[in-house]
Amino acid sequence: MLINNTESRKYSGRLYIVATPIGNLQDFSPRAISTLQQVDLIAAEDTRHSGYLLKQHDINTHCIALHEHNERQSAEKVIQSVKAGKNIALISDAGTPLVSDPGYHLVKLAHEAGIQVTPVPGPSAMITALSAAGLPTDRFCFEGFVPSKSGARKSFYQNYQNETRTMVFYETPHRIVDSLADLCEALSPDRVVVLARELTKTFETIRNDSAENLLTWVKADPNQQKGEIVLVVQGCSKPQITEISPETERILRLLMAELSLKQAVKLTVEITGERKKGVYRAALSVQR
Ligand code: SAM
Repeated sequence: MLINNTESRKYSGRLYIVATPIGNLQDFSPRAISTLQQVDLIAAEDTRHSGYLLKQHDINTHCIALHEHNERQSAEKVIQSVKAGKNIALISDAGTPLVSDPGYHLVKLAHEAGIQVTPVPGPSAMITALSAAGLPTDRFCFEGFVPSKSGARKSFYQNYQNETRTMVFYETPHRIVDSLADLCEALSPDRVVVLARELTKTFETIRNDSAENLLTWVKADPNQQKGEIVLVVQGCSKPQITEISPETERILRLLMAELSLKQAVKLTVEITGERKKGVYRAALSVQR
């Protein structure tokens, strides 16, 4: 049922943000289905991809495309239609829109225009993986896709050396071996990592092990290098700035309390003679 309450609202139309299954079609909620059946228009990341899912559930609502390459133009049209009284739903190819998927620009515009935004929650690979990972969930951070190039990926992982929260990353199957190797090097071979693959699908795999063991296992089994993957990584138990000496860290912290990060790094390097790269990374950790 669409929400009917129009009191104290600027426009009678609404924007619905609707989650769709990440694999198992039974995870399509009755509310998501009836919302998509009843709205005037669906903005879909890929109309052909979603067409199959919608048909299967007797959803015959007209669809338009809203993807990363046309989001700005398409969002303007959606906003105009909602202002004219239409109810419009946003869906992505799978899971929750806006989570590593298009939609942020549209939702921002909707708020700016005073349009009511109504979420219809459902699956997201990030939360699904986290819920079954066996790592602390009281505090966690979602960091989206891991960079594709090795150099960028190593420094990306290094930025999390002192992260104490559980971390969730999206990774692609053809990069999983290299990515786990970089993770071992940048964090530690002992760090507990959970590979959550093909969640809610036939070949669902959830394996919790050290980064090193996981790498060996994935390397040896090409089946583990297929499908969709989430990595959940244990936070570090005791944050440490390992790249610089305790004395350098003390100086850096003192300078950072008074100066900009750039100035503090420059002066620390001059005073201590430590390598700029290490001091800079340490400064980023201190800042975080
Ligand atoms: N919006 C989606 C969500 O809410 O999870 C994410 C979209 S993002 C473009 C796609 C990535 O999500 C995949 O590359 C993979 O990392 C992860 N993913 C999506 N479905 C998955 C599944 N069934 N199992 C494991 N990972 C999945």
